[in-house]
Amino acid sequence: MKRIGVLTSGGDAQGMNAAVRAVVRAGLDRGAEVYAIYEGYQGLVEGGVAIRPMTWGSVGGILQQGGTVIGTARCKDFRERAGRRQAVRNLFAHGIDGLVVIGGDGSLTGADILRTEWPELVAELVARGELTPEQAAEHPRLAVVGLVGSIDNDMQGTDITIGADSALHRITEAVDAITSTAASHQRCFVVEVMGRNAGYLALMSAIATGADWVLIPESPPDVDNWEDKMCEVLKAGRAAGRRNSMVIVAEGALDRNGAKISADYVQQVLVERLQEDARVTILGHVQRGGSPSAYDRIMSTLLGVAAVDELLDGAPDAEPQLIGVHGNRVVRVPLMECVRKTHAVNDAIRANDFALAAKLRGRGFEESFHILRTLVRALPHAPRPGIRRLRLAVLNASGLAPGMNAAVRAAVRLALDRGHYVFGVRNSFHGLAENDLFEFDWMSVNGWARMGGSELGTTRRTLAPSDYYAIARTIEERKLDGLLVIGGWSGYQTALQMLKSRENFPAFDIPIILLPSTINNNLPGTELCVGADTALNSIVDAMNKIKQSAVASQRCFVVEVMGKYCGYLALMSMIATGAERAYLHERGITLDDLREDVRLLNTGFAEGKRLGVMIRNEKAHPIYTTDFIAKLFEAEGGDLYEVRTAVLGHLQQGGDPTPFDRILATRYAYRCIHYLEEKAYAGDNEVACIGVTGSEYAITPLLDALRGYDVTLERPKQQWWLNLEQMARMLAQPGPGFYGEAL
Ligand code: ADP
Repeated sequence: MKRIGVLTSGGDAQGMNAAVRAVVRAGLDRGAEVYAIYEGYQGLVEGGVAIRPMTWGSVGGILQQGGTVIGTARCKDFRERAGRRQAVRNLFAHGIDGLVVIGGDGSLTGADILRTEWPELVAELVARGELTPEQAAEHPRLAVVGLVGSIDNDMQGTDITIGADSALHRITEAVDAITSTAASHQRCFVVEVMGRNAGYLALMSAIATGADWVLIPESPPDVDNWEDKMCEVLKAGRAAGRRNSMVIVAEGALDRNGAKISADYVQQVLVERLQEDARVTILGHVQRGGSPSAYDRIMSTLLGVAAVDELLDGAPDAEPQLIGVHGNRVVRVPLMECVRKTHAVNDAIRANDFALAAKLRGRGFEESFHILRTLVRALPHAPRPGIRRLRLAVLNASGLAPGMNAAVRAAVRLALDRGHYVFGVRNSFHGLAENDLFEFDWMSVNGWARMGGSELGTTRRTLAPSDYYAIARTIEERKLDGLLVIGGWSGYQTALQMLKSRENFPAFDIPIILLPSTINNNLPGTELCVGADTALNSIVDAMNKIKQSAVASQRCFVVEVMGKYCGYLALMSMIATGAERAYLHERGITLDDLREDVRLLNTGFAEGKRLGVMIRNEKAHPIYTTDFIAKLFEAEGGDLYEVRTAVLGHLQQGGDPTPFDRILATRYAYRCIHYLEEKAYAGDNEVACIGVTGSEYAITPLLDALRGYDVTLERPKQQWWLNLEQMARMLAQPGPGFYGEAL
């Protein structure tokens, strides 16, 4: 029997619990015995009760908790050889020779050292008579797999670390809240965020909140008198109509000579040079706190399962791997290579080689910083001499998706900064038909990054044939050179219609780019749509409350979520909440399925289960409706449990967009504007859609993207997340004989 251990080490991070839960349950599911090592390396050195066998039930109910339930610590002893020898002895005592370590670069380095020294330390234990040679021969080597738990997102080799998304949630909530009070008083606010040597949290929260200035370690202000420059920009912003100024300072912020820039210093500068009231907020541990975001729960779950696979299936002598994320995919990368690259960034910062530091952080980082530098400007650059200034229009289409405004804001500013004219179209394509356009200026999108809803207005109403004629007239009258459509499927359909009717309407012969925004996450040419992450978080929040409401009684909920024919929200919220079942249209529902579910519920509740949650996509089945399923369970469950339904409805479309959606919207918008510019200058009038596929951003001609799309069911023919269903069920359904805290 294979025995593996899991530990969390270094700073705690939201999502660590989801990873621990996944490691435990995936390990048990694969027939291994899984031990939790409490208090990180401290527990490994101390042994005894710090190393405990885990059951399915021991990780029940932890998915929604922040921090790490198995504890974490910084451990001096483990830095010494004697401490690590003690750790090896303790692992031998339990027969553990595989470890999943969840921590930062320090913790992962420690794990690698332990693995490398293992044979020597074992030999030492034999020499000291603490192990027999026979015992030693049973575990010739230690296998190690690393997951990066760190809110700072400071590890190379993975796009994101466990906890960073939740920390961004906390920062964004706080900055949004401060912004609303700042606006009433015309104040400056300086907010210090965590991140150690990494500027990720500061940079991304500045993009997400629409902050006015940001100071980060990797890209210090490029002039010595940066204080003057900052004040100039903030002053100009005020003159242009901003009511407040928000400066975000990373805790590791430096000037270009490598001297620390503190939040207090920034405040002092603002008070002295702008003669304005300036207040400092240091967010501190708030950023580590709170319930993990939907993304952190889901991603950490996938990473935990992949770590177990790596541990159990990896070649015995293979280099230890780090399980991380590239774009939308889980990847494995050599662990020590990631640690080395991380140290290289830190070294570059220490040597004041900031160009190198930013470069090493990767393409996404440099691009985000470049975008931010444009977005924070008080006014756009003057148009470059000699360029043809394009006339671009932006509209929202289809149903509402949180993040639409962030996309418009970014598109408007980035296009204005390139010297173009940007027109906002009110009320979607209907507004285009009615020539209801206005010209955007720089400040007209101020504050839009954080706003839910659609400031431009959007509608799903279908167009009449005469509308196309009117749209053609508007395009001609306004001399539009390109169109950016931010929206869902009906927007894509209209763009397709325009493409097809170019012979009748030559005016349609302009480049059109589609930016996918719908909570359903069901559009062609992409795996990720703006709005889906916010909807998922809304569902997860609602489910937290629903679950709490049921603590005292034995109750089963049938929760209906949106998605049209696409089960993304249903399956992902199942993973994020640990619900037992997601009914998807893609899989259908049969009478046998329902019979099996009744059996599981009845046995579970009979054996002490207190709560059951079944999630149903709104269109999962025409006959087996939410009500039908609830009544069926009610009838078949008898007195064992009560059944309630919760149809979440439009709360899924509302709310402030999450940082993930705001950032995705901004990065899509950046590429869309460049695309329109490039195509308009080249006279190449394609209709295309942007998206993320696998680990890359991609712009695909609409006709190509539609080949992989089921237009009747309005969803991609291949959906990358569907094969997560089995894993989701494995994690949620305890094996036979166990019905404790299944959630
Ligand atoms: P993080 O993992 O978040 O980077 P630390 O650097 O504090 O946090 O590391 C956490 C723990 O990992 C340390 O307290 C120590 O026990 C162990 N550790 C870190 N670096 C090493 C090292 N070079 N050798 C051995 N153990 C280490």
